[in-house]
Amino acid sequence: MTNTTTEFNSPTGASKTATPPATTTFADFGLDPLIQKAVAQQGYNTPTPIQAQSIPHVLAGSDLMGAAQTGTGKTAAFVLPIIQKILRHASNSASPARHPIRALVLTPTRELAVQVAENAASYSQYTDLRTAVVYGGVDMKEQVTILRNGVEILIATPGRLLDHIGSKVANLSQVEILVLDEADRMLDMGFLPDLQRIINLIPTARQTLLFSATFSPEIKKLAQSYLRSPVTVEVARQNAAADTVKQVVHLVAAADKQRAIVKVLENRTRQGLSRQCIIFTNSRLGCARLARALERDGIKAGAIHGDKSQGERTLTLDAFKSGEIEALVATDVAARGLDIPDMPCVINHELPFNAEDFIHRIGRTGRAGSKGDAIALVDESEKRLLDDIEKLMKRKLEVAPLPDVKSVPGQITDPFFYKPYEPSSATKPAASEQVSTTNAPEVKKVGITPAKPAVGALLGGFKKKS
Ligand code: AMP
Repeated sequence: MTNTTTEFNSPTGASKTATPPATTTFADFGLDPLIQKAVAQQGYNTPTPIQAQSIPHVLAGSDLMGAAQTGTGKTAAFVLPIIQKILRHASNSASPARHPIRALVLTPTRELAVQVAENAASYSQYTDLRTAVVYGGVDMKEQVTILRNGVEILIATPGRLLDHIGSKVANLSQVEILVLDEADRMLDMGFLPDLQRIINLIPTARQTLLFSATFSPEIKKLAQSYLRSPVTVEVARQNAAADTVKQVVHLVAAADKQRAIVKVLENRTRQGLSRQCIIFTNSRLGCARLARALERDGIKAGAIHGDKSQGERTLTLDAFKSGEIEALVATDVAARGLDIPDMPCVINHELPFNAEDFIHRIGRTGRAGSKGDAIALVDESEKRLLDDIEKLMKRKLEVAPLPDVKSVPGQITDPFFYKPYEPSSATKPAASEQVSTTNAPEVKKVGITPAKPAVGALLGGFKKKS
């Protein structure tokens, strides 16, 4: 990970350059002992580059633009100084009036909101500050109770926060620090009008921090509208992947991509590498289909996409983290912000339409200096997208043939070898007895032992978000 600082031209023409960090330990930041105790409990010894560069500026009251992805330690980079700055308001009073919202963190997804909230709760655990998270897709009641009781640090997705503001449950008039986390993704997801509405409810005499994986022209415009002479901090070369990521492109016809994934994973097994991987798809439907198809090929797969409820996503992610699932098939939106440490391999089943998303995707591997593989399966129709990606990354990606994996007994990988199981008309249940399922259709492998039950099915009973 490179560690650079850059200049940012503010709307007023003033510019500030982040000074290289002089501090190397958490103690040097002068954080309150209650915060230091929590940091030590996390087992953090040294600040990460984004922390070393950002924390002094946030403590000094500057607005800040941080170019950093999830996995760089960016959450602590803003949460720790926020806690320090609002600690003076900490109160053990039970009165809600003594606990107004002082810091607001907006995130694009529920997953990221939950992760940030978990971090904020653990970093502030020895203080009297209260932390809460609100996001859509779940019942509002519990969130209403928490907000009514008062909370100093609120982490929220924009839509749900506006719901609470609309019903006068959340009041932003005492917010001192605003964080726009993964701002680029919030813009991609069309949250700009929501962000504008929310920001207009926050006092202008505030400190604003904006974090984004890339600084697109839209992000710069957002910063120019809402940040004042921000200091800019970058911890990775812009529009580049970590040097520890080995990137390979396999040219594969669209119809052969699923088989190609099986080959890639089998090859990893032979090389003694972990099969744990995250596989990116462009659509929800494609995501669900691919996960089911991989399961039929004997790969423990789970899908995470926008049609899954919060509970389903959490279950799948937990199963992935515990190793119960080895291939997590995901869409960009659902995967955004997920904290999956030490991801050994990222596979692009399809190239994203937006080249910057490719960088987000492969940023899931090779974090914190660990080695990672990023494999892209590219068909003829995607060559233009590949060009865009190479232009953005300013490098050509290596094109290599698929690994030549011969079938081994008990591991037949040719999908055409499987036949969907069709009960004979004599054994077919009457239509009224048929049970509909959204899980993989039952399949029978010809000549080999039947596949293990699909993980998706074990996690099953998943209901679609209505
Ligand atoms: P983030 O980029 O904020 O999602 O953080 C990624 C991971 O790094 C999380 O699991 C954090 O708990 C961890 N982390 C954050 N700061 C440090 C640090 N200074 N030392 C070691 N791990 C850290």
